[in-house]
Amino acid sequence: MSGWITEALHGDFHTNFRVNKVLFDNQTEHQNLVIYENEIYGRVMALDGVTQITERDEFIYHEMLAHLPILAHGNVRKVLIIGGGDGGMLEEVLKHKDVDKVTMVELDRTVIELSKEHLPMICGDAFDDPRLDLVIKDGCLFMKECCEKYDLIIVDSTDPIGPGEVLFTDNFYTDCKKCLSEDGILVTQNGVPFHQATELKSTMSFFKPIFEETTCYMATIPTYVGGPMAFGWGTDKAGLKDVSVAELQVRFAASEIETDYYTPEVHRAAFALPKYVQELVD
Ligand code: SAM
Repeated sequence: MSGWITEALHGDFHTNFRVNKVLFDNQTEHQNLVIYENEIYGRVMALDGVTQITERDEFIYHEMLAHLPILAHGNVRKVLIIGGGDGGMLEEVLKHKDVDKVTMVELDRTVIELSKEHLPMICGDAFDDPRLDLVIKDGCLFMKECCEKYDLIIVDSTDPIGPGEVLFTDNFYTDCKKCLSEDGILVTQNGVPFHQATELKSTMSFFKPIFEETTCYMATIPTYVGGPMAFGWGTDKAGLKDVSVAELQVRFAASEIETDYYTPEVHRAAFALPKYVQELVD
């Protein structure tokens, strides 16, 4: 591989990245894994031809999927991450000193090993944190057998193709709900609704019968082309998405976390949905 790499996730719409240097290109036990360098985006990881994460804009995705639900909840102690092999989500979650334990369930050990080697800017030392319980397993199977309760479950998955498909099913979400504490929150990577409307609509239709409050919130991440990305939100504690900016400011200051995208104001605004997205949620 040299020159350009094409991502063909969206059918008739393809994205090209120039490849300056290939760092890894091989088949793992579960998927094709490529890590390469691009002038604008830095190091980029792709699985089965789909861009997963880039050094340059990963902060937007990870900050919004980690800090937003943790600060909305206000007392998160136990977190479960499904997927997230690059370690970026883990790193953000572990920045919260009140988080006592993080269980991360990743299907593909090679993604973790290669991320540690080639993407240290994304995962830092997160995999060495004593609060981490790392499980190498299919996330769907893990949830089926899980008997623990978590304050927050983050589904940091690939798109609903290949091994990630099971993480977008009714059964999986129902098993997640069963493992949430009473006021727990489930958040999910739900694609770019302009290109992947069915994905969000389907997740929301599965969330509705199992959660009191279901919606999505949004952030624009340049790598995931086609407009803002949607993050699914499900909880039985109504009102968690409506915590005031003033209260979020207090919680954010107390966390002493520094961010490049997340602010309490952005947090509240992320729940304001454009009409075409609200219609998918309803
Ligand atoms: N930010 C990315 C995105 O939006 O596309 C997702 C990043 S992360 C690299 C996705 C991870 O999900 C991968 O490491 C992949 O191995 C993992 N994964 C896919 N299917 C899985 C499954 N069934 N159980 C657990 N992990 C899974």
